[in-house]
Amino acid sequence: MCKRNKILILLFTLIQIGCTKTIIYNVPLYDAPIDWKEYETRKKTISEFSKYLTDKKIFLDAGHGGEDRRNKSRNGEVIEADVNLRVVLNLKNYLEQAGAKVFLSRDKDTTVQLGYRSELANKSGADLFISIHHNAPSKVEDYYTNYTSVYYHAFENDYEHEPCNKDLARYIQRDLSYVMNNPGGLGSFDGTYSDYIIYPKEGFSVLRKTKSQAVLVECAFHTSRLEELRLNNEEFNQIQAWGIFRGIAKYFRAGIPNIKFLEDSTNYTDSLKTIKFKFDDQDNINNRSIQVFYNKEENEFYFNRTEKTISIPLIIKNEKYFEIKMIAANSNGNHLRKTFYKFKIDSDGKIKLIE
Ligand SMILES: [Zn+2]
Repeated sequence: MCKRNKILILLFTLIQIGCTKTIIYNVPLYDAPIDWKEYETRKKTISEFSKYLTDKKIFLDAGHGGEDRRNKSRNGEVIEADVNLRVVLNLKNYLEQAGAKVFLSRDKDTTVQLGYRSELANKSGADLFISIHHNAPSKVEDYYTNYTSVYYHAFENDYEHEPCNKDLARYIQRDLSYVMNNPGGLGSFDGTYSDYIIYPKEGFSVLRKTKSQAVLVECAFHTSRLEELRLNNEEFNQIQAWGIFRGIAKYFRAGIPNIKFLEDSTNYTDSLKTIKFKFDDQDNINNRSIQVFYNKEENEFYFNRTEKTISIPLIIKNEKYFEIKMIAANSNGNHLRKTFYKFKIDSDGKIKLIE
């Protein structure tokens, strides 16, 4: 081949490259997870996870939809509301196959007001609330930012923070980012974030107003050059749902501690009263994780490892009501799901749990 022809071919190739919107050389847009790829293995995994998911009540919220279809990808072809819904419907399918009871805020492209989503979740009596979204950067011209993140309500040191939300966020974050082959954001060690980072002191409305354990998943950035190529792929949406499904199942597999107030355990000596709580027999509690608060002030306690009880001495003055906040985690790091306990002191001095 003469030199002139070689130059022409090179020029032609360069022009072609310049004209192509996106060039991907033999790089698959995604990998099918090994426990999902073959139908039989998938079925086996679902049946294995059904041990932890049977009868769990889970509320899934597909973000946006109906009148709210503004969030779009760079090429305009990917609409966030639609991707959220596809992920939710696939996730519902996996969870139901594993025996869970699933509630939805929407099952089609329809408007559901933000406040109404939490109202629906609270009415459903679900144990978990999971809101599914896709993200966009603050600068519209940023086509490169792309990561997976999961949000929980409030900062860890805030009194209103419920550690169980972060537990669930960690499990979903790990398995979702793994199946999507996406990193977590650099603003956090494990890819989970407080919603106060986005809206200081308020957080996301759906996380603040929902009474059950709740997280908000930002699966990826629909604005990213890579994500916009795969988010409209139905198989990829199934894989996304699979990552979240695996995260939820593994969260339950790690066990959740449970505690109950021992009504007859109350001891009275003048103003000093001791109340007692007992963990479930199978709970393997990490004693270093325990913290007790009495009316928002840190309070002392005694943990009896053999009996699995916590005794809390209280100096009660004239109050008729008081609140205990209790934090405790099992050896896998999963925390109690009920943290706040409200008590009433009767006229005869007896302490009753009211909430
Ligand atoms: Zn969104």
